[in-house]
This record gives sequence, structure tokens and C-alpha cells, in this order.
Amino acid sequence: AKSEGRNTIRFFTADMDREFRRRRQTEDELRRDLGTDRFKVYYQPQFDLRTGSLTGYEALARWTSPALGPVSPEVFIPAAEACGLIAPLSEWILTKACRAATEWPEPVKLAVNLSAAQFRTGDVADMIERVLRWTTLPPDRLEIEITETALLRNTETARSALNRLRGIGVSIALDDFGTGYSSLSYLSRFPIDKIKIDRSFVQRLTADRNTSAIVQAIVGLGKALDLEIIAEGVETHDQVAQLRAIGCHRVQGYLFGRPRETVGFPIPEVVRRLQ
Ligand code: C2E
Ligand code: CA
Ligand code: CA
Ligand code: CA
Repeated sequence: AKSEGRNTIRFFTADMDREFRRRRQTEDELRRDLGTDRFKVYYQPQFDLRTGSLTGYEALARWTSPALGPVSPEVFIPAAEACGLIAPLSEWILTKACRAATEWPEPVKLAVNLSAAQFRTGDVADMIERVLRWTTLPPDRLEIEITETALLRNTETARSALNRLRGIGVSIALDDFGTGYSSLSYLSRFPIDKIKIDRSFVQRLTADRNTSAIVQAIVGLGKALDLEIIAEGVETHDQVAQLRAIGCHRVQGYLFGRPRETVGFPIPEVVRRLQ
């Protein structure tokens, strides 16, 4: 039993070692590729089902490393946070996306994700104001998407940054809504304009009555608080029918368009048919 224990420890440390080296390599490659065209910004459309109009695009970062191949943002965003590169990476993404958005027709908004780590220091609002000035995108065309984690971990810096951004006309969406905890209190304590119903709810919507009740409650809450509500990860017509019945009219998901490098403005057939 004793030697077994020792082996377990050895396997464990070997795994940690491999994991550690993989992380180090990701960080090294990230540092090397930052600011090059190996990073890209893709855009996924958002629609209003009642009017059939395109309301905005969410910017989603992409990275293909020559050494590692395509790396998911769920891997490289945390890696960038860990090695102190999230601020320059995020500024690069925002700049590229804002510049693109200046070419879009008037009411179409740009939504950009910010990571929780960026609210640790007080300068995220400075960065955003600088990029807006530099790219000349009007602040009311920009929406930032944040998660509850950002608000939970850095309550005071987050509140002042969000108040400042809200003050110049930037709108604020609470991402992955319903997956964190004590969500409800954030809605009154922070200047939130919109909630994004997490994909996990949308996925279970047609199979599970409880989920449908939860989504209904979220939509009701959003309406009572005068918030916009959008459902993310919409993949099927059944989900659309349910969302409409519940009163959620904003949608984003593969059914309406995948994230792409170039944006288009025609209304897809699936939206037209729903009008
Ligand atoms: P998120 O902000 O919740 O973004 C939604 C994710 O769902 C995206 O994955 C998107 O491609 C995917 N998605 C959209 N529609 C559908 C659908 O119908 N079905 C399914 N199965 N998936 C769908 P992606 O692009 O891999 O991004 C993953 C996460 O990485 C994002 O989750 C966000 O948290 C983070 N992320 C991506 N880009 C950025 C960025 O520029 N900055 C920061 N801070 N985080 C980012
Ligand atoms: Ca998002
Ligand atoms: Ca989300
Ligand atoms: Ca998510």
C-alpha cells in the first residue's frame, strides 16, 4: 500500500508537470503572437425576432498558434489573465472590433467581452475610453459583456468602472446569466442594461419544464426591471418558438449565424420566416 501511495504521488506530479509545461508553452506562444494576425476577431449576429432586425454583433476572439494549432478562447483568455497579458490582448481585440464597427449601419451595436481579471485594477474604463476616442466609435454603439464573477471579485472597482462607462453611453450586459450565484442582487447594485440567458438554459428549454419556468422567471424579472433580455446559443426552431412564447425576443446562436470573420447585413431566411 505504501509503494502504491508513492506511485500515485509520482503520477500526480508527472501530470502536474505536463500541465504546467503546457501552460507555460501557451503563455510563451501567446506573448509571441500578440499583436499579429494570428489573432482574429470573429463576429456573431444578434437579432430581434419581432422586427426581424439585426441588433448587434458579439466580438469573439480567435487564435491559431503555429505551434499549438487553434486554441479556444476558453483556454487562452485564462492563460492571458494568468501571465499578465489580458490587458494588451483585450485592448487589441477592442480596437480591432471598434474599428470594424465604425463601418456598420447606424443602430447595429458591437458587444465585446471583458474578463473578470480586468476589473482588478481601476483602469479598464480608461482603456475603453481611449479606444473609443482613437477609433471614433460613438460610445452608445458599444456594449460590454461581463460575468457575475467580475462583479463578485472586485465589487468596488467594478462599480466605479461600470458607472463611468455607463455615464458616457456604453451599455452593459450581464453574460451567462443564471449560471453564477446570487445573480439577483447584482441587477439592482450595478448599472446593468441587459441580461444574456446562458446557453445551458436554452439547451434544456424544450426538454425540461423546470428550465422553461426558470427562463420565464428571468424574462419576467428583466421586464420588471426594464432590462433587455437576449438568449444565447439558440440552435433550433423549437427553442425559438419557446422563447417567443415566453416573451424573449432577442436571440443569438448558430441557427441565426455562426461567428465569422466578416459581417454581412442581409436578414437570414430563418429570421424572415419568423416575422
Ligand atoms: P461567451 O461570451 O459566453 O460566448 C458564447 C460562446 O458560445 C462562444 O464561444 C460562441 O462561439 C459560442 N456559441 C454561439 N452560439 C452558439 C450556439 O448556437 N451553440 C453553441 N454550442 N455555441 C454557440 P467561443 O467563441 O469559443 O468563446 C468562449 C468564451 O470565451 C466566451 O463565452 C467568452 O467567455 C470567452 N471569450 C471569447 N472571446 C473573448 C474576448 O474577446 N474577450 C474575453 N474576455 N473573453 C472572450
Ligand atoms: Ca459573451
Ligand atoms: Ca455567454
Ligand atoms: Ca459562456
